[in-house]
Amino acid sequence: MLKVAKFGGSSLANSTQFRKVRSIVESDPSRRYVVVSACGKESKEDHKVTDLLYLCEAHIRYGVPYDDIFRLIEDKYLKIRDDLGLTTDLESHFLDIRRALDRGATTDYVVSRGEYLAALLMAEYLGATFVDAKDVIYFKADGSFDLPKIREQLALRAGGSSPIVIPGFYGSMPDGSIRVMSRGGSDITGALIANAADAEVYENWTDVSGFLVADPRIVKNPLSIPRINYSELRLMSYMGADVLHDDAIFPVREKNIPINIRNTNDPAAPGTMILDDCSEQDLKDPPRLVTGISGRRHFTAFTLTKSHSSVDVGFLRRLLATFEDYKVSVEGVALTVDTFTVIVRSDTVANCKYEILGRFSEEFKPEDLKVEDHISLIAVVGRGMKAVPGSSGQFLSEFGRNHINIRVISQCADELSVVVGVDDGDFGRAINCIYDKFIYEEQKI
Ligand code: ASP
Repeated sequence: MLKVAKFGGSSLANSTQFRKVRSIVESDPSRRYVVVSACGKESKEDHKVTDLLYLCEAHIRYGVPYDDIFRLIEDKYLKIRDDLGLTTDLESHFLDIRRALDRGATTDYVVSRGEYLAALLMAEYLGATFVDAKDVIYFKADGSFDLPKIREQLALRAGGSSPIVIPGFYGSMPDGSIRVMSRGGSDITGALIANAADAEVYENWTDVSGFLVADPRIVKNPLSIPRINYSELRLMSYMGADVLHDDAIFPVREKNIPINIRNTNDPAAPGTMILDDCSEQDLKDPPRLVTGISGRRHFTAFTLTKSHSSVDVGFLRRLLATFEDYKVSVEGVALTVDTFTVIVRSDTVANCKYEILGRFSEEFKPEDLKVEDHISLIAVVGRGMKAVPGSSGQFLSEFGRNHINIRVISQCADELSVVVGVDDGDFGRAINCIYDKFIYEEQKI
């Protein structure tokens, strides 16, 4: 058994968190690869090291002294080192980074140093081997990952007796320069290492006990999801749930490696297993009707009625082409006879809403045309509702019982989710009523 364990910034915020990481890694010898983020926030008022590094770089760009900010970073790492009685010569690394900053180092190099320093400390603390991400994570010239080279370079370094610690978030370009991934990119590093090492599991350690059924800012103490498949995960994250970087999926999916979201502060909790296909496990332990509920606010709905348009071949395509002309992505379409509602994100039409309406009036001469803002979309997601007659009916009647007016409804034939549009003002209530009925009450039975 071989596991890759990635620890996020909150798992590295101070020496207490480092101790938790060590006990997790030492409790399971199959955790052979450890990928770390930069140190995160110790408290709400604290700052993430990566944010501070971006700030240093911006100060330099505008010719403003960055010393005070850089000292915050130095103090954070020095305190962790001294608390843990480690001996890594951080001072000389700080000096190198300061020199590089003064010489106008690239933004990518500067911001990658948070992960680099955290990995140096973690490697010493675990008695593990430090492998710089610049020597194992490779980009191609077009910015995509060079997986064959990643596999080849990792294989050269594998096989020792101690675990390997690798900084997340960055890698090398073909010319040897450092390139960072998008924010939260250490998740991707972990997934690439899991792929290259043929791991059995990719563990992603964070500060929640897995992927939650609903956003904890909306539902009080939501349960975590024990098992979820990639399609459900995609729906949940597209609709606003946020635990894992989207691009962390493809390297593990390619090799069918499960992702296990775990909580560094509660290592006994099993967390969430993300699998390509849950059907085998579902046979033994059937899933709930609802896997998760997520949603996003601030959508705009364009509704157009034109008689006989339903039998006018190409009508919908022409309608949608207008949004394409304005480079607006369409998030939902609902249609009945001769009436079409197109839903888009409000911010994407803020400057062209009335132009689009003007084009519709002119081109289609509709009998009725309106645009409404302040719409929220809520997705009730669950592989458990496939072929269960009445499942969407149950959700709709729950909204009805709670006096929540549904503005639009859509469900695709994959039966994996039901998406409803409600007024922004009903957003929180709508999510809570589904949670109470289909998660909380079921749990009590
Ligand atoms: N430290 C980087 C960030 O804050 C990458 C990561 O933590 O995954 O975005």
